[in-house]
Amino acid sequence: MDGMNKKVLVLDASAFINLKIPLHPDVDSIYVTTVQVLNELKDRMSKLHASIALMQRIVRIDSPSENSLREVKSILKTLGEKLSETDISVVALALDYKKMMKDVIILTDDYSVSNVAKFLDLKVKPLIRRGIVSIIRWRYQCPSCRRIFREDVGVCPFCGIKLIKRGRRIKPADS
Ligand SMILES: [Zn+2]
Repeated sequence: MDGMNKKVLVLDASAFINLKIPLHPDVDSIYVTTVQVLNELKDRMSKLHASIALMQRIVRIDSPSENSLREVKSILKTLGEKLSETDISVVALALDYKKMMKDVIILTDDYSVSNVAKFLDLKVKPLIRRGIVSIIRWRYQCPSCRRIFREDVGVCPFCGIKLIKRGRRIKPADS
């Protein structure tokens, strides 16, 4: 049975390459992809992962409508973006599900796919978390005596010279 309220997750090739597909059916979500995406998989692991997911009916193959394909291609012209035929198929398929009033999300790490998808008001979720890899710790240093202060006290209490803000990239664990 297809739950009407299930989330639809549209996968591009990176989902298979990064092995981000569950190997057991997900009660809350339906995973879909296109033939073009599957044909793009070259390495053994991602192909194996895809065939298991298809066999277990975790991922199903679907094809976008001509209308949505046309719509995505015309948006590309408007935005001056370039997408491969495979990427176009992914965005167009997501657009089809959105037209069916489904809660649809594209799983991708591709910047151009995200850009086009967002323009079409489609939700995008990155596969690999970025941005929390390192954080910046700020310190304030006197350019004259080189003393370092944890807080911005404005001017060096020893030299009376304005402090300079300095950032150092650190791993979250070190903070
Ligand atoms: Zn100083």
